[in-house]
Amino acid sequence: MKKKELQIKLQELEGFVNPKAELEQYRTPPDLASSVLWNIYLNGEIEGKEVYDLGCGTGTLGIGAKLLGAEEVVCVDIDKEAIDIARKNADKAGVEVKFKKTDVRDVEGEGDLVIQNPPFGSQKRGSDRPFLEKSLEIAPVVYSFHMSETDEFVREYVRSCGGKVVSSEELNFPLSKTMPWHEKEEENIRVRFYRLERS
Ligand code: SAH
Repeated sequence: MKKKELQIKLQELEGFVNPKAELEQYRTPPDLASSVLWNIYLNGEIEGKEVYDLGCGTGTLGIGAKLLGAEEVVCVDIDKEAIDIARKNADKAGVEVKFKKTDVRDVEGEGDLVIQNPPFGSQKRGSDRPFLEKSLEIAPVVYSFHMSETDEFVREYVRSCGGKVVSSEELNFPLSKTMPWHEKEEENIRVRFYRLERS
C-alpha cells in the first residue's frame, strides 16, 4: 500500500451521519489521517502490531492502521451509530477489524499501540481524560490528538497517568461545518499530535 492509495481508501469512507455534539463527533480528515498514519507506519510501529483506536467514530484511524498491515485492530466507541458506520467502512475497505461498543473507561486489553483522536474536552470538560488514562494502560506507545490550547494540561495529565510526552507536532485541523453553532463552512483549529510513552 502506498501513501496515495491509503489516502484514497480513507477518502472513500463515510463520515458521521448525525454527529453528536455532546460526544464531540468530528472525523479526522482523511488527508490528515493518512499522513499521520503513514509516518507511524514508516517508524515500524504498525505492521504486524496489535493496534487500538479509542473513540474510533467512523473508523478512519483504525481502518487505516489495518490497511497498513496491522496484525489486529480493535476499534472502540461508546456510540452504536458510529460503530455501525465504522463496520460498513471496514467492509468497504476490505479489512477485518474488531469492534467494541463501550465506554473507553471499561476497555480491557493490551496492545502494542494506541492511535486515537478522542473528544478534546471542549463540549464536556474532562472528556479527554479517560482516553489518556486508558490508552497508557493498554499500550506502551500512544499517538493522540488534542487541542493546542490544552497543551499544558495534557502534559501534566499524562505525567499523572505514569506517562510522558516524547514528542508532539502542531497541525492544522480543518473542521467542516457540522454543528449548528459553527459559523464558517470550514475552520482551521490548532491541534497537537502527541507521541506518548509509559515512563
Ligand atoms: N477517532 C475518530 C472520531 C473522533 S470524534 C476519528 O478520528 O475520526 C470522538 C469519538 O469519541 C466519537 O466517535 C465519540 O462517540 C467517541 N467517544 C466520546 N466519548 C467516549 C467515551 N467515553 N467512550 C468511548 N468513546 C467515546
